[in-house]
Amino acid sequence: MMNLLCPYCGQETPAGEETEFACARCGGWLRREPNGKAWVLRPAAQKLPGEEEALALVAQSDRISNPQKRKKLLDQALALCPDSLGVNKAVLLFGRLGEPCKDILNYRRIKCYLLHAFSGEEKSTDQKEMLAELTEDPQLQRCLSLAPDRDAFIREYFLDLCRQYLNLFIKGSNRYNGSFLGFRLGSLEKNCAAPVAEMLRNMQSTPLPPPYGEALPAALKRAYETEIGSFAWVEKEGT
Ligand SMILES: [Zn+2]
Repeated sequence: MMNLLCPYCGQETPAGEETEFACARCGGWLRREPNGKAWVLRPAAQKLPGEEEALALVAQSDRISNPQKRKKLLDQALALCPDSLGVNKAVLLFGRLGEPCKDILNYRRIKCYLLHAFSGEEKSTDQKEMLAELTEDPQLQRCLSLAPDRDAFIREYFLDLCRQYLNLFIKGSNRYNGSFLGFRLGSLEKNCAAPVAEMLRNMQSTPLPPPYGEALPAALKRAYETEIGSFAWVEKEGT
């Protein structure tokens, strides 16, 4: 057994074979990581009882498409580990998809559709509701109460929403990415630029309250770069 320095208390603690363990001095949860030929201890997020099993149910739900079955798995995960941030985030992103709904084209059941509030196409009453849900959603507030870093959670959540929105409603839309005999008309980056530039303009004219207001345009820009391509096309459209 070797002794390594604990990053929490600065004292030496015995580190055995386990990858994750509690510091013998202060009880902080640690992870042993290789550092060149030596080992070093880093702070680790402690798993809650039942969390591993609960996150496995979340992963299982991500692999299936039936919304009712997915909701059942997420409910089970939440019952197993109600305080898991990972589980609560999955529930947040799932939104109202699992609710029975006669109107199959009701996009509002898809969480990322909230970003459509910035498309300039929503009625003002709907837009108001959608903007409020982006920041006041009780499930979002639940996640923020569990998150060790609230701002980081908001950035991550918005990035997920933006990625999904771009893939489903911009990249996946025939309106922006029309094809003829199987060939796409125009380049993807160019076709998607105008609606995204419009969204950014609307985010500036109807900003969300801080710290959400700054996080959202930054997330949209990053999501554009990872899901579509060069952001220069959007800047060319004037933001
Ligand atoms: Zn310690």
